[in-house]
Parts: sequence; C-alpha cells; structure tokens
Amino acid sequence: MAHDDALRAAWQRLTDEAIDFESIIRSLPVVNQPDPAELRAHLEEFYDFAEPVPVDQLTNQLIAMLRRYLIHVTHPRYYGLFNPSTRPASVIGDALAALYNPQLAVWSHAPVAQELERLTLRCLASLLGYDPDTMAAHFTSGGAEANLVGTLLALSDRCPAAATGGMRALERQPVLYLSGESHHSFVKVARMSGLGTDAVRQVPVGSDLRMDPVALERMIVADLDAGFQPFLVVGTAGTTGAGVIDPLPELADVATRHGLWFHVDAAWGGSAVMSPTLRPLLRGIALADSITWDAHKWLSVPMGGGMVFTRHPEAMAKAFTVLSGYMPPAASSITADPHLVTPQWSRRSTGLKVFAALAELGVEGYARLVDHQTAMGERLRELLVAAGWQLVNDTRLPVVCFTHPRITDGTTTTSAIRDAIYARGTAWISEVVLTGKGKALRACITSYLTNEEDLLALVGELEIAIGERR
Ligand SMILES: *Cc1c(COP(=O)(O)O)cnc(C)c1O
Repeated sequence: MAHDDALRAAWQRLTDEAIDFESIIRSLPVVNQPDPAELRAHLEEFYDFAEPVPVDQLTNQLIAMLRRYLIHVTHPRYYGLFNPSTRPASVIGDALAALYNPQLAVWSHAPVAQELERLTLRCLASLLGYDPDTMAAHFTSGGAEANLVGTLLALSDRCPAAATGGMRALERQPVLYLSGESHHSFVKVARMSGLGTDAVRQVPVGSDLRMDPVALERMIVADLDAGFQPFLVVGTAGTTGAGVIDPLPELADVATRHGLWFHVDAAWGGSAVMSPTLRPLLRGIALADSITWDAHKWLSVPMGGGMVFTRHPEAMAKAFTVLSGYMPPAASSITADPHLVTPQWSRRSTGLKVFAALAELGVEGYARLVDHQTAMGERLRELLVAAGWQLVNDTRLPVVCFTHPRITDGTTTTSAIRDAIYARGTAWISEVVLTGKGKALRACITSYLTNEEDLLALVGELEIAIGERR
C-alpha cells in the first residue's frame, strides 16, 4: 500500500539521518540566524494545512528545515549553555517512549517503564551519596521544575499551614536564601509558589563567586529578629554562569543549625559524581534535603530530562498526594503511583532515555565521558592563556569564563567578539555577567564529541574576532 511505502521510506530516512548524525552535524554551520519575519513568512506559505503532506516528504522537509534553521547545540563546536550532544542510545530510548507512549501516572499502566526509571534513579541517587532505599526521586521536565519541587517540599515540610490556608495562613512570611550566582528559575518559583519575589534573599558571594556561609548565617539571624520565617537555603553545585560550586558542607551546617531545609541545585554539575576524580568536588551534597539534577545537561540525553531527589519521601507525599475517584487502584504495597507523589498527572517516560544511555555506557563509560569533557575544559584554559586571554573564573568543571586586555582597555567588547563569532557561524559561545566581575566571554564544553581540534578552531575564531589573526 502506498501509505505503508511512504511510512517505510520515512523511517528509513530517519534511520539514515540518525546513523550518520555525527558526520552530518560536523558538516553544518553551528550558528544559523534566519530573519524571523522571513522564516515565518516562508513557513506560512509552505504549510497552509489544506493539502495533506505524505509522511516521507514531510520527513525530508523536516530534516532539511532542522538542519538549516537551528543553532546546532549538538555540534562539537557549540560551547554553550549546557545543551549536550545526545547519546545515540538515549535517542532510541526517547523514540521508543514516543512510540509506545507509556503512561506513568500510575504504576500499573507501565510496570516496566516505571521500574526502569526506578533502577536508574536508584543508581544515580547512590552516586550522589543518598541511600537508595530511603530516598524518593522522580523525573521532571527539567531543572526549573525540579527546583520548584524542592521549594514546595521545603514549604510543605516547614510551613504546613500553607497547604490549606495559603501563605496568608502563616504567621510569619517565609523567606529563602540563595546567591546572586544561583539560577533564576528560583525567581519564577517564588512567583509560582505564591511566596513572592520579596521572599528571595540574595546572599553575597566571595571573589571566588561561592556563597559566603558567614553572610548567610548573619542574614538568617537578622530575618529571625525581624519576624520572618527562614525556611530554605539553596546551594548551587555548578553555577550556570561560571560553573562554581558553593561550599555545600558549610551551607548544610548553617541550614541545619537554624532548622532550614537545604536544597542543592546541581542541574548541570551533578553529573560530576559520575567521575571518581570529580566526585569529591561535590562533597556534602548528600547532606541536602533535596537535590536537582538534569539528565539533559551533562548526562547527554535529549531534553527534557530533569530529576529531583529527596531524603524525605514522606515530604513528597505530603506535598503532592490528592485522592480522586477515577484513578486506578495502587498495584501493590511496594509501588507508589507517581501522580500521588509528584506534581505531574499524565507522565511521559522521561527516564527511558536516561536508562538507555546509562545501560549502554555503564557508570564507567559515563565517568570517561565526564572526564573527557573536563580535560577539554582544562586544555581550553591552557590554549586561551597561551593566546593572551585572561581567565575570570576558577572551577575544575569545564566552564571557562575569560576576557582579553583589548576588552578591559575598551578597544573592543565581549558583545562585539561574540557577534563576530556568530557572524562567521563556525562556533557558538556566550557572554556572561558575573557578580563583581562584570562581563566576560563564556565557553562550556557541552559535547562529549569536542576534541582538541575543535578547541584550536575556537581559539582561532577568537583570535580573528579580537583582530590578532586574519
Ligand atoms: C539549567 C539550570 C537550571 C534550569 O534547568 P532547566 O532544565 O533549564 O529547566 C537550574 N539550575 C541550574 C544551576 C542550571 O544550570
């Protein structure tokens, strides 16, 4: 049948694209910046949705468009914002999740998908230093949702009256603490949770960009004196801007002494625990009451794949359990139905792609992947310094923030360098503002495919942009 032939051809085309993807992506420009109005007009003309498009043609069209109109975050010369090259096994896992469409709202609908996620989360929890038998964890859409869950757990545990009466039922305004280098998803969390952004206290950082625990304690005491209710400290393990790790044991100590929930946002940096060499950098992370970790960052799986872990399973149930008359009964006493212990209701098998990547690579394979990217970050620092650039941040994780004497003396700007690189299109880096340090250029090793040649190419692009090479 014609339809079957078209479908077969479409899948064949997709298979070819996936198998050859590594060489295809290398052959494409990293940066593509179509004119928004032109792109929109082109698509509107092409697709009026009046005539059906055969699926094989449609597949070819989609591939052509995706090749042409994206910044290719899976390109080894994309030095960007934690968006990874995806492991082939994880793409297969994700495609199967789309195909079988397992429904994880209740265990009984998707027993094997449920248990594969559980196995995966238990393995990752142990690497964090949590006891897999006493923790609870689930997949989220990303780090922002995981940070929301962490905050809601803290709220329902420390301010239980808010669950029924809302914030107005609380005698004192709850406040939380983070640093200026923390992720700004917490500003949204403050709005979405009803806490309000005034409840967010920004703790100063030192010149190393790490939260100052002494300042934290001083602010908690001052807030207590002023009649507020401090309830949550957020430490970051691998800040988005500079890859810096807050002093987790010291923050845990301050939080514990004052009875605050301690959440660690390790959205990107959490993956350092895969490597025995890097794991000690995250010392103290297991003291956290809850942890955010994104698989769709340094675990190199497709978006969205966040995770949230807690040492307090009962807090998860308290925050999210709602009983209804229409959901199927629990399968057994050893299984928890996700819709009762997470914010989502219908639930995609987000974890299938993470399981697939972990099973295919193994923990040791992941350690090599993480160590390779770390080594590439170290090498990039050496190459930049040798070429006259100056490093601005201090971390062992592969985020490199840097500037140049010609930027500091005002001859050029970080934005001009960035834009010159985008215009040539062969690499992508970003500009970042760091507390007390102003603007810098930022390059992160986000692809496990990035090699020394890619680093030399980036440094070459930077030299052209700064005007030291043609
Ligand atoms: C990326 C990031 C987030 C947000 O995660 P999403 O997956 O983009 O929602 C939160 N915190 C940190 C430290 C991050 O790097």
